[in-house]
Amino acid sequence: MSVFASDSTQHPATAGWQREAILSLFALPFNVLMARAASVHQANFDATQVQVSTLLSIKTGGCPEDCAYCPQAARYDTGLSAHKLMSTEQVLERARAAKAAGATRFCMGAAWRSPKDREVAKVAEMIAGVKALGLETCATLGMLKDGQADALKAAGLDYYNHNLDTAPEFYGEVIHTRAFQDRLDTLEQVRAAGMKTCCGGIVGMGETRAQRAGLLQVLANMNPPPESVPINQLVQVPGTPLHGIEALDPFEFVRTVAVARIVMPRAMVRLSAGRESMSDEMQALCFLAGANSIFYGEKLLTTGNPDVERDRALFARLDLVPMPVPQEPGTAHLDLIAATGPGAACSA
Ligand code: SF4
Repeated sequence: MSVFASDSTQHPATAGWQREAILSLFALPFNVLMARAASVHQANFDATQVQVSTLLSIKTGGCPEDCAYCPQAARYDTGLSAHKLMSTEQVLERARAAKAAGATRFCMGAAWRSPKDREVAKVAEMIAGVKALGLETCATLGMLKDGQADALKAAGLDYYNHNLDTAPEFYGEVIHTRAFQDRLDTLEQVRAAGMKTCCGGIVGMGETRAQRAGLLQVLANMNPPPESVPINQLVQVPGTPLHGIEALDPFEFVRTVAVARIVMPRAMVRLSAGRESMSDEMQALCFLAGANSIFYGEKLLTTGNPDVERDRALFARLDLVPMPVPQEPGTAHLDLIAATGPGAACSA
């Protein structure tokens, strides 16, 4: 059977991705799915290149939201040490160090439900300073109110991260302090302000395959789809409500990456939280399935991340190289974002 045969798993030209078509992709024989995803990857990217990112937490913990996976939620006793918003000079010091180490983009994350205008003004100052260093900028600050996306854009913000977390119909099982529509509203404001989006979700939270397909369906049918799509594997942190649930089959995670690649062929599909617990072999399968971006460094928000040396060794064994600075803005980046703080799994 040709992996390019005309069937229900091909992208419909006009109607967007339907749930059944995405489920048909998930149901392909594993080797056929991998071949399809690898072909899509190679048609759109140099498959030997992986974008490398790290992340600076500018404000950690103490979040009023109740995301059931998150150690930064103040209501869960996870032993996390919170820290308040860093000063602009502290952030710029980290940005200068990142630039000296070769960074081209610097990302800042804060564990807020929704920043106040005065907090946006402080972050805008950081963004302007980072931008003045000649770095690309990205931020994840929570839900944005009217005018805040414009203020961030005016300060020089290039990318805004805001994850959907999961399928619309499963969202209420995981988060009760905000609605799925709130996420879409913020993303709309980000787009309207002229910024690019980094938007994905978390799998392994007890959702069904149909719900994993539902998450990818919403992402793929955005107009345009997000430029970056983090696929997080749940990290079960003691003290959070999702600690102790049944773990997702690793091959199902790989299938999710492959389907994400097929339905969003031009996006950077990013392995994010949960990578530390993956074997080298599983990561290799994810790269084969079309993942082409990773977070790099000692910590991914508040969860562990494979150390730099292990990543370097893995790249060498797989003949992978860091993705260079893109020729066209928005297509690919070599990111270096100093590592500490709140999670890439954090949807703040
Ligand atoms: S994921 Fe983000 S919004 Fe949710 S509790 Fe954690 S820091 Fe707060």
